[in-house]
Amino acid sequence: MDDIILRYSGPATVRRSYMNEFLVHCPKCGHLATVTTSQSYDTSKDKLICQTCNHVEKRNDHTRYKAVVKRNCDNCGQSIDVTIPNNKEKVEELTLPCANCGQVRTYKPRNDAYRLIYNSIGACDPIFHLPLWFQIDIKGDTFWAYNRLHLVEIRSYVTAKLRERQTTTHTTMVECLPNFIKAAKNRMIIIKAIDKLLKK
Ligand SMILES: [Zn+2]
Ligand SMILES: [Zn+2]
Repeated sequence: MDDIILRYSGPATVRRSYMNEFLVHCPKCGHLATVTTSQSYDTSKDKLICQTCNHVEKRNDHTRYKAVVKRNCDNCGQSIDVTIPNNKEKVEELTLPCANCGQVRTYKPRNDAYRLIYNSIGACDPIFHLPLWFQIDIKGDTFWAYNRLHLVEIRSYVTAKLRERQTTTHTTMVECLPNFIKAAKNRMIIIKAIDKLLKK
């Protein structure tokens, strides 16, 4: 077992430090695609690129608006409750007749933004919800990693015999790993699974 190192001396990183890149299955061809995000409020540069079929998707192209008008008719007092989903742009005005008295008015709707995501199963990326490239079943539990760096860091943690806390200021990514990954009895099976994924 020369694979086992004594002490884990990896960085005291949190999981978020690995969440700038996600390797996923391309929604078009199923091969390896990369999702990148700036992890900031400005999501305009967040995108998916497939290395095989060159498919590109931008995160913001998945934004939709639900236009909502909720008020009472100014003629008869009847409540008006209209929702029009799936608009690519914000809806500035909606002209509607009252269902009760037929009075037509133009309203300024409220626009609720939401994002269309893929309907994938298993471990997925948090932006497009596409299946992660690095995932494998280990005795009924799903082992997964966002990207190569994340996978390599988990590997170096799993191979270490001594896992002392790297910091007391926060809980690190490796400390948050599920118990089946941290269990000493699973060490070899986890390392094997990771090595299989690294060759993928
Ligand atoms: Zn593709
Ligand atoms: Zn009315």
